[in-house]
Amino acid sequence: MRVVLLGTGDSPGTPVIGCHCRTCEDARKMGWQRRRFSVMVQNAGKTLLIDTSPDMREQLLRMDIDRVDAVIWTHCHYDHFIGFGDFYRVQSNVNVFTLPEIHESIAYFMKFLKYKPIEVESYNTFNLFGMDITLFDVNHPPVKSVGVKIECDGYKIVVSGDTNKNVPNKSLAEMMDADLFIVEALAPEGRFKKHMNANEALSLAKRINAKKVVLTHIGHFFPPHHIAIKKYPLGMDFQTFSFGEASLDEFF
Ligand SMILES: [Zn+2]
Ligand SMILES: [Zn+2]
Ligand SMILES: [Zn+2]
Repeated sequence: MRVVLLGTGDSPGTPVIGCHCRTCEDARKMGWQRRRFSVMVQNAGKTLLIDTSPDMREQLLRMDIDRVDAVIWTHCHYDHFIGFGDFYRVQSNVNVFTLPEIHESIAYFMKFLKYKPIEVESYNTFNLFGMDITLFDVNHPPVKSVGVKIECDGYKIVVSGDTNKNVPNKSLAEMMDADLFIVEALAPEGRFKKHMNANEALSLAKRINAKKVVLTHIGHFFPPHHIAIKKYPLGMDFQTFSFGEASLDEFF
């Protein structure tokens, strides 16, 4: 199984259009960026996307992906689904898994596309391409939002989805002992109704006893990447984690 962070930015990405803060300027100067949120999971020769970001086309071209076999949407915010429109005239009838109410909120925007909405319930495990997948409720008011647990070959990968720190206990139980925890952190500090700061994300990681943690959904509120990475386990676009015969290794 291979897990790739296709985009580690928050909704406007980094650099932010029109922003000349230190981080956005560093990104422009050094040529790095944070695309919008999507995680690619590959197993048994199949490709699953968790969320379809507005940068989808570039992300799939960059990874040389000819075909996507399934999609999971975590919630109805545009930075998590709107890139699905890039499937227009490229691929139809893609299976898309999420809760009924999330399908309902997104369907209006995807009327021009043919896809297969598949309704699943939180905490009901389903199997896709040899992976056991469970969606669990998180807390991202006012919209319904889920995180994703993937179990495969004895490894457990957990993606927090967009959430504040008040994750329901039932979901904490699903997240326990993750081998890799991909967790959102909008900013190094500050209090947010919908999101976590880095300390909240790291203490959640501790609470669930995660073995490896990587922060994502990162805003330009963090210092430039090469500085912030010394203090926080920040993800980077296209960072890849491999699980399988060999022990957990990581490369760029
Ligand atoms: Zn988001
Ligand atoms: Zn900025
Ligand atoms: Zn959101």
